[in-house]
Amino acid sequence: MTDGGDAQERLDTAIDDRFDAAIDRAIDSLPDAFVERLGSVAIVIEDEPTPDQLASVGARGLYGLYQGVPRTAFGAENVPLPSKITLFRGPLLRGYGVGPRLDDAVEETVLHEVAHHFGLSDARLHELRHSH
Ligand SMILES: [Zn+2]
Repeated sequence: MTDGGDAQERLDTAIDDRFDAAIDRAIDSLPDAFVERLGSVAIVIEDEPTPDQLASVGARGLYGLYQGVPRTAFGAENVPLPSKITLFRGPLLRGYGVGPRLDDAVEETVLHEVAHHFGLSDARLHELRHSH
């Protein structure tokens, strides 16, 4: 174990704390009715998307991914598989650095994936962003 390794570990922990805090802020910003229905959604942080995950959305890069059964799908409440939101640390850090822009990007990514959980498509989300 070198000092360099310890420093890297401290940096990793600090970055994970930033992600956790930004995720909490994103969830706090949601209306209560949404938060109540989020119960079964796990939010996890991974380093990089797998080739399968990239292929599943036809993207070259991903900041986050929603996997699961949207609440609007028939019988969704009875589906035993939990829904999952994954945030990808590597792409977010490369895209936004470790400054305040990272916090905003993590928050925005969580909100985007949460919207998928409530049945909004990427096309619809794109529309909403440009409709005001
Ligand atoms: Zn999306």
